[in-house]
Amino acid sequence: MYSINENYQKLPGSYLFSTIAKKVAAFTEANPDKQVIRLGIGDVTQPLAPAIIEALHKAVDEMGQADTFRGYAPDLGYEFLRKVIAEQDYKARGCEISPDEIFISDGAKSDSGNIQEIFGADNRIAVCDPVYPVYVDTNVMAGRAGTYNEGSGMFSDVVYMPCTAENAFVPALPREADIIYLCYPNNPTGTTITKEELQKWVDYACEHHSVIIYDAAYEAYISRPEVPHSIYECEGADSCAIEIRSFSKNAGFTGLRLGFTVIPKKLKVNDVTLHSLWARRHGTKFNGAPYIVQRAGEAVYSPEGKAQLRDQVGYYMNNAKIILEGLKSAGYEVYGGVDAPYIWLKTPAGMTSWDFFDRLLEKANVVGTPGSGFGPSGEGYFRLTAFGSRENTEAAVERIKQM
Ligand SMILES: *Cc1c(COP(=O)(O)O)cnc(C)c1O
Repeated sequence: MYSINENYQKLPGSYLFSTIAKKVAAFTEANPDKQVIRLGIGDVTQPLAPAIIEALHKAVDEMGQADTFRGYAPDLGYEFLRKVIAEQDYKARGCEISPDEIFISDGAKSDSGNIQEIFGADNRIAVCDPVYPVYVDTNVMAGRAGTYNEGSGMFSDVVYMPCTAENAFVPALPREADIIYLCYPNNPTGTTITKEELQKWVDYACEHHSVIIYDAAYEAYISRPEVPHSIYECEGADSCAIEIRSFSKNAGFTGLRLGFTVIPKKLKVNDVTLHSLWARRHGTKFNGAPYIVQRAGEAVYSPEGKAQLRDQVGYYMNNAKIILEGLKSAGYEVYGGVDAPYIWLKTPAGMTSWDFFDRLLEKANVVGTPGSGFGPSGEGYFRLTAFGSRENTEAAVERIKQM
């Protein structure tokens, strides 16, 4: 008789997006004449850039010819892609990362969820609160999080590091943690960390023999010079940090699927490198990202691709500016939106995140995401995204101002 992985039963129901969908459906049914604008989703809306489409077409044609057809990709990913990443994302920023320390994957969600497999069951994880839910949930599935407390909204064996306006969304160093998940620029708060502040985390990790898992999915949105594009800009990070990147938010690959993880060979425990464990895991459980998608990824780094994507990111960041300035002028306390496509606002008059969600839907017919859905410290906050169209973004801000 089989049994199930009981750890899955410890996961609290993921009600956030299903509750939002239900509330919006009920509202539109009751108000068929109202046009609802959705600024809740974390998905891009602009089509793929021409340079990427061109690379895809070319690679598709190659797949139809015997002499250029490709089967299984190399375990770590194609060299043409790993090389251009090493050069442009790392070497150009003074980071010594070699192509064979880069593992190409189908995205940052799978990598940030799977990476915990190479660590022992007794490691203690620390996460920011609020947080992208993948880090905690995958550790729960692996039996590393303890039990869920309904009242506090926390797992017994997870270290939660509150990120609120009071600490400018940069958490205090944890008292004890083996695996530290950091995401900058941050989803959901849209805030980020300076190189100087990040250096303290790297120093802490080196000193305590902790590992930092650095999710830099929003790197392309960084606008201020004091914000690091990679954790490897910090001294010593190549012996304590794993970095995860995605092509989803910088190039619109949410449907194409491509990402990568960097594991420097210096990360090791008693002579066993994390690189060798991840290589083994990759070889056993993953058969590579599609050739045509890796060629599309290469085009992200071409001069035309870079210019087109700068415009695409610029389009979203203009939306962010419109939201940020509109909300400020309407008297809201707002954060983020400068180095990230998310705006994190403090709900007015001490409203709960869900009360504000209801009010925004009723009064402005705008959908956002309640901050409490990302963790207990997200209560009293609310997320709006810059991934909508210009037209919808402007209309939504006007409606919020009138509210
Ligand atoms: C969107 C997002 C990702 C990207 O995931 P993909 O699987 O590459 O699409 C990773 N981390 C965070 C925090 C995100 O918001």
